[in-house]
Amino acid sequence: MKYDAIVIGGGFAGLSAALYLARARRQVCVIDAGSPRNRFTDASHGFLGQDGRNPRDLIADARRQVEAYPTVRFIQGSADIARGSKDDFTVTLDTGGVLSSRRLVLAFGLTDLLPDLPGLAERWGKTVLACPYCHGYEFADRKLGVLHMGPMSAMQAALIADWGPVTLYLNGDNRPDDDMSALLSSRDVRIEPSQVVGLDGTGTDLSAVLLADGRRISIDALYVAPPSRLNTTIAEQLGCAIETGRYGPIITVNESKMTTVEGVYAAGDIARANNALIPAADGAAAGIALHAGLVFG
Ligand SMILES: Cc1cc2nc3c(=O)[nH]c(=O)nc-3n(C[C@H](O)[C@H](O)[C@H](O)COP(=O)(O)OP(=O)(O)OC[C@H]3O[C@@H](n4cnc5c(N)ncnc54)[C@H](O)[C@@H]3O)c2cc1C
Repeated sequence: MKYDAIVIGGGFAGLSAALYLARARRQVCVIDAGSPRNRFTDASHGFLGQDGRNPRDLIADARRQVEAYPTVRFIQGSADIARGSKDDFTVTLDTGGVLSSRRLVLAFGLTDLLPDLPGLAERWGKTVLACPYCHGYEFADRKLGVLHMGPMSAMQAALIADWGPVTLYLNGDNRPDDDMSALLSSRDVRIEPSQVVGLDGTGTDLSAVLLADGRRISIDALYVAPPSRLNTTIAEQLGCAIETGRYGPIITVNESKMTTVEGVYAAGDIARANNALIPAADGAAAGIALHAGLVFG
């Protein structure tokens, strides 16, 4: 059978696109590998009406609701290859199966490329945090840090000062310029220039940043804004333009969420780095625009 749309990725963006297409009574196939970006955390915050819920439960509920529509098929697995053009796309699964569709929605998410620092990876999403709006409230007025990852880190430190006392760990020769230094000083951000060699604590709790000179700086939560990469090369395979986003490559889309390849839409973190509510909204926008494209050509 030829689907109206194949959605690659069943996270917030992909499920949202599928929901709108299902409600337009279109034949949709969602392929999902089952590794959403926020799988490292037990509580998702800032999603209106769902604040504080376990993100796995949130996605499971969303999937159940989408799957209940009779025109939706859900495949647990990975899409490896996508080819074709408007009205005639094929997607090859990791099992070797081949599906075809008139349109595609890319919603396969990003992978965060965490720095190789002992003690960091196992605390990601627990006490090593990506975003203050997601988890900052839970660590308000505690001892906070920001690890330098690039020029954005100083801005992040200035922002995070609203949640508690912050130290910016420059991790070597990464001193901000005079204007930024003045802003950080006005926000009472402490600057620690030494090389960071590890993190310490019990379990996933964080108690100390370990410095190369032997000092241990007491801390409760460390913010890291790592670079990221797209989860598959499918956008490149299709010929979609890729641009440089704030943290890594993202897929270029227009206001209808269509990529530079006609009939291929992209939504979620891969098209606009942000939090779960925005991928969900972008997925809905992609679903609506795709449906209109099916009708009006
Ligand atoms: C540690 C952490 C905590 C976070 N906490 C919050 C929070 O509290 N609140 C909030 O709003 N946001 C939070 N976020 C951000 C949030 O996770 C993302 O913005 C959101 O998940 C993006 O949704 P998405 O649908 O674009 O991608 P994802 O949710 O990552 O979903 C993409 C899906 O596509 C699948 N996939 C990948 N490749 C393929 C393929 N080839 N074939 C088929 N499927 C594929 C993946 O397995 C995944 O299931 C957090 C992020 C991190 C890293």
